[in-house]
Amino acid sequence: MGSSPLPHIAIFPFLSKGHTIPLVHLAHLIRRRCLATLTFLTTPLNAPFLRSSLSDTDADVVELPFPGGVPGLPDGIESTDALPSIDLFLPFVAATKLLRPQFEHAVAGLPAVSFLISDGFYGWTTESAADLGLPRMVFYGMGSFAMTVSATVAREKPHAGLVSDDQPFPVPGFPQLQLTRNDMNPPFDDPNPSGPLHEFVTEQSIAAANSHGVVANTFYELEAAYTDRWNLHIGPRAWCVGPVCSARLQEPERGLSDSKLTHWLDARSATDRPVLYVAFGSQADVSAAQLNEIAVGLENSGADFLWVVRREGAYQLGEGFEERVGDRGVVVREWVDQLEILRHGSVRGFVSHCGWNSVTESVCAGVPMLAWPMIAEQHLNAKFVVDVAGIGLRVRAGDGTKYGLVRREEVEEKVKELLFGEKGRMAAEKVKELALASHKAMADGGSSASALEQMIDEVSGAR
Ligand code: UDP
Ligand code: UDP
Repeated sequence: MGSSPLPHIAIFPFLSKGHTIPLVHLAHLIRRRCLATLTFLTTPLNAPFLRSSLSDTDADVVELPFPGGVPGLPDGIESTDALPSIDLFLPFVAATKLLRPQFEHAVAGLPAVSFLISDGFYGWTTESAADLGLPRMVFYGMGSFAMTVSATVAREKPHAGLVSDDQPFPVPGFPQLQLTRNDMNPPFDDPNPSGPLHEFVTEQSIAAANSHGVVANTFYELEAAYTDRWNLHIGPRAWCVGPVCSARLQEPERGLSDSKLTHWLDARSATDRPVLYVAFGSQADVSAAQLNEIAVGLENSGADFLWVVRREGAYQLGEGFEERVGDRGVVVREWVDQLEILRHGSVRGFVSHCGWNSVTESVCAGVPMLAWPMIAEQHLNAKFVVDVAGIGLRVRAGDGTKYGLVRREEVEEKVKELLFGEKGRMAAEKVKELALASHKAMADGGSSASALEQMIDEVSGAR
């Protein structure tokens, strides 16, 4: 009896931590179920992160040199996290198209590849896949709610003809759901979009429509109605195989590499004081004025907090801030292990920009959120967190707009409500239920575990 070779999956993550980390988790999940051989493709500067994150798997990492001398783009940057501003996003993704010849050459040279998983931002890989005779699976790094609502609103334009950005409109297929244009990000907030971002999004969605399927970092029970609508009316078929971060949660707690942080968190458990974790992901630019409002709001809330401030200098947190809060608060300026922080028993609230990874990590860890969306589909994610899933509260800008300044009083009030109020208690209860549901989905025989096995089986057979 001959045994057929394992499926071989070539995985091409987008060049940012937020899009790479979930695919690393996926690799760990696949490896645990012993389903396939994996090869990651990336650029030289991103290879060390991938190699170290994958060191306990047998996944290979192949390097594709990133093009230099691209107009409008500083040389030596191979990740959107390292861009001087997120405004350079479009030139950066345009530059990734130049990777195409190396990408195709590298994949063609790999032994018997079964299919590709490539990021939604690499629409051009649909053509590569066709040339190589391989199915392409798209990884969006979004939930079904954001995917389905964006696609439906773009197609049906229920927000045309409204007089203001905060006027509610229903979404076709979901009569209970009321959105406003403030919940949508460009170009989806505009019923008649044009310009480079619109062209980019259109190109990616045509490429996705011509792909074999979607690998979705969610679990069916979390967003069933939205996944169903996607699969029935939009497509290509989405397999809900997440939340992939549970690959880590199924392992014993590894503790934080920063022992000072661990001690600080452990000391909070001893006194049973809830800790608020504050972090806005790896992409969003937070203004100095906004940082200052957050600092004063946290200080006045009386809550213990762990705040990750990226790229900014201490002076922006206000004179003497850290001295005044003393041991009550910790400000971190490096990369932290967010998942380990969220699973620490002392952490009972997460002030988050609602990047989808952060949302799924909060769900898995059972921590209610204070939603503070900034860019991309984060406003939709916040809507999902607060009004659909009921696992968080929401901060609002003083002027009621999407990008306006959130004032210190608002920060203080909402933080207190999340940690000590009735609404916070209800959100905490709900998110703990969802945490259990997510663990069930990921366990043997659960919806996500089965979907992963089925997906690999079916897509490998589709070649
Ligand atoms: N993250 C982390 N440490 C940090 C900042 C971020 O581990 O200091 C991780 C976080 O756990 C999540 C990812 O980076 O997995 C960020 O993804 P998300 O979708 O939340 O936001 P983005 O950074 O893409 O805006
Ligand atoms: N990186 C990159 N392009 C850059 C700078 C860094 O791709 O222009 C990658 C690098 O490979 C590393 C990660 O981004 O894995 C973070 O790099 P950084 O220098 O910020 O180090 P960290 O603070 O994460 O240790």
